[in-house]
Order: sequence, then C-alpha cells, then structure tokens
Amino acid sequence: MVGGGILGLAVARELKLREPDASVCLLEAEDRLAAHQSSHNSGVVHAGVYYAPGSLRAKLCVEGAGRLRDYCAEHGLPWRASGKLIIATDEREIPRLDELERRARANGVDGLTRVDAAEIAEIEPAARGLSALHSPATAVTDFAAIAGAFAQDFEAAGGTIHLGTPAFDDLQVACGKAVFCAGLQSDRLARARGGSPEPRIVPIRGGYLQVRAERADLVRGNVYPVPDPDLPFLGAHLTRTFDGALLIGPTAMIAGARDAYRVSKLRRRDLGETLRWPGTWALMRHHWRASLGEAANSLRPARLAEQAARMLPDLTAADVVPGPSGVRAQALDRRGNLVEDFLIERIGDDVHVRNAPSPAATSSLALADLVADQALG
Ligand SMILES: Cc1cc2nc3c(=O)[nH]c(=O)nc-3n(C[C@H](O)[C@H](O)[C@H](O)COP(=O)(O)OP(=O)(O)OC[C@H]3O[C@@H](n4cnc5c(N)ncnc54)[C@H](O)[C@@H]3O)c2cc1C
Repeated sequence: MVGGGILGLAVARELKLREPDASVCLLEAEDRLAAHQSSHNSGVVHAGVYYAPGSLRAKLCVEGAGRLRDYCAEHGLPWRASGKLIIATDEREIPRLDELERRARANGVDGLTRVDAAEIAEIEPAARGLSALHSPATAVTDFAAIAGAFAQDFEAAGGTIHLGTPAFDDLQVACGKAVFCAGLQSDRLARARGGSPEPRIVPIRGGYLQVRAERADLVRGNVYPVPDPDLPFLGAHLTRTFDGALLIGPTAMIAGARDAYRVSKLRRRDLGETLRWPGTWALMRHHWRASLGEAANSLRPARLAEQAARMLPDLTAADVVPGPSGVRAQALDRRGNLVEDFLIERIGDDVHVRNAPSPAATSSLALADLVADQALG
C-alpha cells in the first residue's frame, strides 16, 4: 500500500480484514498519517445530494456515509448529524436547486425535504433565502481521527505502517501487488509505473475564513449556496465543525505547489507541470470568469464573507479572521475537463486511485471495498 491518508488506510484495513494471512505493509511519505487532504478539509459527511445519479460518487457517498456513521458509533469517534441547508437566495438559482433535488431523490438521500423561507429561518435562525433543500442526515466529523482508527484496526490485524517512507518513482515492489492511494502525487506514481499519461493532478487550493468564536453560533449546522453546475466544487459554505468552530470556504484556486497551504508557496516542479499541461490552460479559458472570481476571493478574503452574507445577512467582514486551508488533488484531462467521478486504474498488478476528490473521505469505507475488489480480483 502506498499512501497513509484516509483512503489508503481504509484500503489497507479492508485488505488485511479480507486476507488475514497476507503480509500487507503501508508506506507513507510524511512522518505522520493523514497529513494532507485527509486532515485539511471541511469535515462534512456528505449525504449524496450533488452527484450525478449512477456515478460512483453518488453510490459510494450514500453507502459510505451510512457505514461511516455506524463505524464512528462503534468506535466512539466524532459525529454530529447537524444537518445542512442548500439555500437559493436568487430566483435564477431555483431551477438549479430543482435539479439538485431531482439528483438527491434519485440518489436516495436520507430524509431530504424542500423548505421555504419561513422553514429556513426555523432551521437556521440567522439564515435567509427563497427556498432550500434540507438534509438532516448531513454530519460533521474529524476525518483525521477516523483515519487514525483505520490505522489501529490495520495494525491490530497484523499490518505494518512505515512513516517517513516515500515510495519513489522507481519503486521496486517486493510483494505481489501494490495499491496506490497517493492523493496529490497519484498521477506521478501512476505514470512512473506505466499508467496512462492523463489525467494529471492539478492542485486546487482551498482557503477558509474562520468566524470569531463569539459569533460562531450564527450557524448551527451547515449552510451551503447553490453550486455552479459547471464546476465540481460546492461553493463557499459555512460549516460548524465538530469542535464548534465556524468556517467559511473553501475557495478554489490553482496552486503553485501540491502542498501550497500558504497562497504564496511555489515549487518549481509542481508549478512547471501544472503550466505545461494543456488542460490547465483549457480549464482557465473555459472558466475564466469563475477563475478570476476565485482568485479574488483568495486574495481578498472579505469578498468571501460578503458572498456568505447573502445567506447570512448578519455576517460582516469584521466577524472573520483568516482560517485554515487545504489543497485538493483534482484530476484534469488534456482538454481541460475536470474528472468528476472517482477513477481507479489497473496497471499490471498495481491498482492506482487516480481521482478521489470530495466526497472520498465520506465514501472511504465503500470506496475501499471497490479498490480491494480490484486488488484481489
Ligand atoms: C479543502 C478540502 C475540503 C474537503 N472537504 C471534504 C468534506 O467536507 N467531505 C469529504 O468527504 N471530503 C472532503 N474533501 C476531500 C477529502 O479530503 C479527500 O477526498 C480525501 O481526504 C482523500 O483521501 P486520500 O487518502 O486519497 O488522500 P490524502 O489524504 O491526500 O492522502 C494521500 C497520502 O499519500 C501520501 N503519499 C503521496 N505520495 C507518496 C509516496 N510517493 N509514498 C508514500 N506516500 C505518499 C501523502 O503523503 C498522503 O498522506 C475535501 C478536500 C479538501 C482539500
């Protein structure tokens, strides 16, 4: 196994549970588990509203969220079903909200209802809008803690974890099979092992604002805008995290490094690969307006607070301070299409997860089953 994020650990655990006598080891480049996406996210257990019916994301999100809820209950892990509103604040968003409702119903999202302006204010007293979808089953958790529990299960079953041990491009695999869940490095490892030259990973930085602690009770659960259907991101939302902080974000801007937790971080190799990939330029041409808007949000965070204030009129720029950030591993083809669904590639005896964007943390147990089927099949 390569990669000690939530997905690699879920797969390692699944392999060891299915094949107790097999020797399974996991290599993680960093000196700790869940160092990248798995600890730099919104911590939202999605209910499956957004995803195209029939897609892997739709199926594995709904299944994975249910399994994760049971797992967290059994292991005493963080879980609060604080619910979510997706709010239309403008008449022009209503057809998009209708489409989301259609998708959510096709995907079998638990407990979903359509609510009006008065009901919005009952569920989230500080929120305003014309119409909304309410998903009471949406929860918040701590995905890094869950990854830690998967690691404990794996080790208890006899698996071994090697931290600070990067698998290099010329990795000699001493064992029969290798599974790669390398997140932001997944394209490089796959190509080095003879995999398809595309898609490439383009790092998309997501920055958050944090609402001052004394104003954090403006939101009880999760308040989301109606997303732009052309983009795979959900729009800057307000999330009351498991530990009670209120975050606004994340933004979505192409980053200068695959670990650009600071906006200014650049790494020559990462930036060079991003800029040489034709898909990057095609993406920016196609989404130039959204790209400029996102860049402005990243560079002038008060804009983000203004956007959130459409749903939460009492929120002002004075209520927020800079918050954490994460970098998404987003797969992009050479024509500039963002790969929306989970993508797994078999290369000889290797299995490579080449795209595991949100909701892969929510889906981790269900997605791990699929990856394990491929590895053992
Ligand atoms: C800003 C943001 C918000 C998000 N919000 C949500 C959310 O609310 N809900 C949700 O379900 N999902 C969310 N996601 C998505 C979710 O975090 C990811 O889908 C998930 O964490 C992917 O897990 P992973 O194990 O594939 O990747 P990662 O956690 O990135 O793990 C990959 C691991 O591979 C290791 N690695 C890389 N190269 C090597 C190598 N050569 N040798 C050894 N190890 C290597 C890395 O060090 C890393 O630890 C969000 C993501 C971001 C960035």
